[in-house]
Amino acid sequence: MNPRDFYRHCPRCGTVQAATPTGNVFTCGHCGFRLFFNPAVAIAVFIRREDGRALFIHRAKDPGKGRLAPPGGFIDLGERAEEAACREIREEVGLELAVVTFLCSQPNSYHYAEVTYPVLDFFFTARALNADGAAALDDVAQFEWLDPLAVRPEDMAFPSMQTALAQWQEQLRRS
Ligand SMILES: [Zn+2]
Repeated sequence: MNPRDFYRHCPRCGTVQAATPTGNVFTCGHCGFRLFFNPAVAIAVFIRREDGRALFIHRAKDPGKGRLAPPGGFIDLGERAEEAACREIREEVGLELAVVTFLCSQPNSYHYAEVTYPVLDFFFTARALNADGAAALDDVAQFEWLDPLAVRPEDMAFPSMQTALAQWQEQLRRS
């Protein structure tokens, strides 16, 4: 369920609501309190090493367990997207990044523990400074360095990643 579907009572005055909210806002029928439901922001990074190969992980957990993905995760409160990219990559695969460049954003949704969160994924490309130090850490079952042009977008865990990979591949073919 979308987070808004859990709002059967007003979180301000406690009044039971006649209907669950629609769209991206909860409005209390009793006190008029309004609460907006905006997407969470996540980042993912297509990381290349010297020989041009890119790191793809196999996800350790659902959603998308076992499927391919660029490493990434959710942005913390108060954190910049570029900082989140560097932190998540360090935590998940032990890599330090250089030349972190914005690629594109894509809407996504992420189902976890009964709640389906609306998400906006920010995709970056980057270069690994210590490619030999890559390791499967948090939420990563294993990883591979693959020719990014040989990976089929449909093998990626989420539609947002499929679109982003196709866009990156376009960019690589032009360069
Ligand atoms: Zn209320």
